[in-house]
Amino acid sequence: MPSISFDYQRRRHTIRFNNADDNARALEELDNFRIVQDRLREEPRPRLLGYEVPRWGGIDVHIRWFTRVEAQLKRSMLQKAIETLAGDGQFALPQNRLDVFFMPHGTSMGYVARTTLGAQRQAFLIYSDETPDVAREARSLENNAHGLTYLVGYAVYLYYRPSFTVNAYQAFVLTTLYHELGHILHHLESPTSFFVLRSINGLVGGMEEEQAGRHRIGSLIQTPYSQLRGFIDALEQVGYGVSTYASDKFIEYVSEVFSGLMMGVPFSDETITIYQALGGFLPDNNVRHRRTRNAFHEFLYGCRHTPQTRSFNRDRRLGPGTLRGLM
Ligand SMILES: [Zn+2]
Repeated sequence: MPSISFDYQRRRHTIRFNNADDNARALEELDNFRIVQDRLREEPRPRLLGYEVPRWGGIDVHIRWFTRVEAQLKRSMLQKAIETLAGDGQFALPQNRLDVFFMPHGTSMGYVARTTLGAQRQAFLIYSDETPDVAREARSLENNAHGLTYLVGYAVYLYYRPSFTVNAYQAFVLTTLYHELGHILHHLESPTSFFVLRSINGLVGGMEEEQAGRHRIGSLIQTPYSQLRGFIDALEQVGYGVSTYASDKFIEYVSEVFSGLMMGVPFSDETITIYQALGGFLPDNNVRHRRTRNAFHEFLYGCRHTPQTRSFNRDRRLGPGTLRGLM
């Protein structure tokens, strides 16, 4: 029986699940594909402004432009992300193809789908302009005594000043693209883990413990609820070492760590071990960015409470406003 296991605080946490569940996964992939189609039909209906197929790192990148905002910047960040990974033979995509949608609104996403029943798989990346005020978040973060960020992307700007990026927005675009590529690679590398982690929040959420204790969690997961709770609690704690978003949704833990790794964010050995146990894709050291100077230490030791800190924390608790930009 397939399982995911990791050690945390001297305990072993395990979740067992049914193998494959191919039908369910195939259906979900079809649902996912419909998300793209639905998004294109949404009001206000976005207008296709441009379509191009550059070949980067041996991958045909089908880019559909539905926005002109910072188009050149996004294009160069996308090229950088793909060439950094693919150029070094780090990964292959189905049919060596990636479909990218630059959208004016909605949620950023990355996933693999079957375009029609039984047909070949295809990787999709949606980048949405509906992102929070990154510069403001980054400024607030400098004064955040707890060092907790909602997304890894907010923290990244601080690691690189002054030599890597020109501004927080550019770093955030790149981090977001890596985050979504992280979902795609996770999906390709460990489809069952991807599917289980993606479903687990929904399966557990809203279920009374007593009720759930009598049942297995859906047909997917074999582990009784009582043991599942420990797995979830441990993962939540580990996620807090990455970002708040990583602790909220387990599928996001993988993508947040992946984008952090690519951007040179330092993680503990424990974080990486668990990341690999969850089926996360480990990029080679030589394709990851390097932090500059002592920015991280400045960040750790230079922080202090200010009114901005309090407003940042207050905004973060509100959740949905900051959540909307990413998935
Ligand atoms: Zn995500």
